[in-house]
Formats: sequence, structure tokens, C-alpha cells
Amino acid sequence: MPTMAPLNETHDPALRSWVQSAQALGCDFPIQNLPFAVFRRRGTTEAWRGGVAIGDQVLDLAALAQANLIQANEPVAREALKAASQDTLNEFMALGSKHWSALRRALSEMLRLGAVEQYAVQQRCLVAQADAEYRLPARIGDYTDFYTSVHHATNIGKLFRPDNPLLPNYKWVPIGYHGRASSIVISGTNFKRPVGQLMPPGAPQPVVGPSRRLDIELELGVFIGPGNELGSPIDIDEAEGHVFGLCLLNDWSARDIQGWEYQPLGPFLAKNFATSLSPWVVTMEALAPYRLPFTRPAEDPQPLPYLDSTAQRASGVLDIQLEVRLQTPTMREAGLPPTRVAHSNYRHAYWTVAQMVTHHTVGGCNLQAGDLLGTGTLSGPNADEAGALIELTAGGRQAINLPNGEQRTFLEDGDCAVLQGWCEKPGAARVGFGVCEGTVLPSGY
Ligand code: CA
Repeated sequence: MPTMAPLNETHDPALRSWVQSAQALGCDFPIQNLPFAVFRRRGTTEAWRGGVAIGDQVLDLAALAQANLIQANEPVAREALKAASQDTLNEFMALGSKHWSALRRALSEMLRLGAVEQYAVQQRCLVAQADAEYRLPARIGDYTDFYTSVHHATNIGKLFRPDNPLLPNYKWVPIGYHGRASSIVISGTNFKRPVGQLMPPGAPQPVVGPSRRLDIELELGVFIGPGNELGSPIDIDEAEGHVFGLCLLNDWSARDIQGWEYQPLGPFLAKNFATSLSPWVVTMEALAPYRLPFTRPAEDPQPLPYLDSTAQRASGVLDIQLEVRLQTPTMREAGLPPTRVAHSNYRHAYWTVAQMVTHHTVGGCNLQAGDLLGTGTLSGPNADEAGALIELTAGGRQAINLPNGEQRTFLEDGDCAVLQGWCEKPGAARVGFGVCEGTVLPSGY
């Protein structure tokens, strides 16, 4: 029995909230979205607690639990609210889709126009997003980064191995590596340019110093819900029952460190200095209207049976639009907003969320609630759909021209990268992810 979240009344595009900003044109957080974060009022020592985005507000789940507005005849929603009001969402993520769905429905009902709870919620449970600060939504025990865009894999492969761009295993096995959880940071956290070993072209030996080819990687993060027992693989049709939701992820990458260190075991210091996450986790249920069939070109190998299913073929893919914007210090000083340098879509990925989860566990590896998977850089088929500067600049050879006359190949000190993601189509409400941003500080080396 496939575990994908079905469409229900909470997705109805006609629903309106009494929080008027939720209806604003282009708003990421209408009543059909209801993503989760962990927040508090900025600059205070208040307890961190779960929150849900609605328009330009955060619905404070701890205050809501205290207000006792969910009726006693909704025990599953009450239990879910208690878990979601804590200082991390791990316990809520571990509860599973029955609880996530019950809470979503209860919140949708009390935020609707005409809800009897409006006055109480308005008075006691809303914090303006402008006044909020966020931390990571979960304690991330383990982080695995995949490589699911065949376009990114081919583009990068051409730069690192011109004679052999796409390795023969790519179309059979979802490639990934175990990453570093301790350096995952929340959007808005700035970080120092990494230092490592670099091998200058033609030099007799490497030097140690700050990276000169610092890059972004436009990815989505996948938060795991209920885990699996060690030795018990997750079937492809059960996989989405183990996925809580998606956020934006920037896997900052030092290409010069990577080029020297990556063989034979893969990325190490090139990627372990910072990984940024957006605060809001959009649930798989909220994404239900934006599913597409999973297909493979006829000339490619079809997935092995453990990675294939009727449900995946019908709707295993997610249609999520993605964008990268850059702001240089000169732009910031001139009051110019970040400018778009790339756009893409998650639909171009070669492997689905369920395929990542199932492959990760097929050998018996156990996932735990709050674990994070990265999709890998989500480049699309066209040149301007690349999710990394190394692709957009042909390995640093063709600079990007910015509207103010500046140029960029790789990131310079003070540059800010902003990722955005959203779903939009006729007949469904827009569902957005907010932003994931970070600024590069000098290495100090
Ligand atoms: Ca990556």
C-alpha cells in the first residue's frame, strides 16, 4: 500500500485564511502550505518552540498547545501539537503521517476565514515573521548527500574528467556519500571562507590556503520522519511514509579543495565547513498537488525492481521551481537586491525522494527521525538551469555579468547567495519554501 499523502480538503485552492497576508499575491505561506520551523522572538532568551508559517506570521505552537484550542475529541491532533511545540521537531517527525495529517487538518480549520478560534489565536498565538529568529528544525543525527541530477553529474564530470564525464554506475545506483551533520547551519548564518590543500595548476606540490573557487550547490533537503530498524530495509512503496518534508539546502563547496582531495574517497574538507538550510520544512502532504509521473528515457536502464513501483511511475516526481540569486557587497551598499543567476526545477532529478530512502536502507542501514538527505545539486537540462557556479561559468572560464557591471566566476568575500523554491500551477495554491541564504566572510587565514 503506497504511503504517498493524498489530496484532501486542506489543499482546496479556494480556502482563505483570516490572516489576510496569507492571500497576498506570491505569498509562500498560504493556508494550503502550513510548513513547520523552530523559532523564538529575535533577540530574546525565550524558549525555542515549533511554529507554522501563515502569511507573514508564525503560528506559535507552544502558545497554541497552552491555549488548549484543539478539542479533546481530536486526541491524535493534540498529541501531534504537543510534540510539535517542543524545541526540536524530532519527536513530531517520529510520530508519522497520521499525526502530521491530523495536526495539519486542525490548523487548517482554525486558520480558515470564519473559524471560531480566530480571536483566541489572534490574541495569543501569532508572532510576526519579521520579529522571529530560527534554528535548525531538528537535531540532525546523520546527513547524507545524494547526486540525483544527471545534468549536474554530467556537467561536473566533464570538468573533472573530460574523457569520461558520466560514470557507468550513475544510471543504475543513486549515488551519495555520508556528509557532516555538525556544520549544518540555519539560513542567515554567515561562515568563513574555507581553508584547505590546493594544488595550483603546474605546481610541484600543494599549498594550504583559503579556497579561491568557493561555490554554491542548489539542493533540496529531505527530513526523515519515522526511522527503520537496523537490518530492516524500507520498501519503495513505504518510503514516503518515512519522509516528513522538504527544505532548501545550500551545500557550499570549495572546488579547488575538492579537485585535489576527491579521489579516491570523494568529498571531505571541500564540503564539511558549512551547509545551509532554510528554516521552514514543507510537508510532503502540502506538496501533494505538485506530483508528476516518474519516467526514464527508453534508451536508459530502467530502475532495478527494488527502486521501481507503480506508485512511483504514477506520481513519484515533485514539480518544485528553484532559483539562485546573488548579492555582492557593492550591490548591498548601493541598495540593490540580490539578482537571479540561475533557475531550475526538481522535476529534472534522475532519482526520486522515495528511491533515495529505499536505496539508502536496502543494505539494512537504519534512518532515524530528524536525519537529513540532500538531493544533490539540482541542475536542469539547459545551460542557465545549473545549480552551481562551476557549471554556470564553465569551470570558472566564463564570468557571469551582473546587472551593476560586476562579474563573478566563484564567490568573493561578502557575497550573499539566496536560494528560493516554490510550486505554482493553475488550479492549485502556491506553496513556497521561503529563502535559504548565507554570506561568505573572509577566511582570516
Ligand atoms: Ca552536494
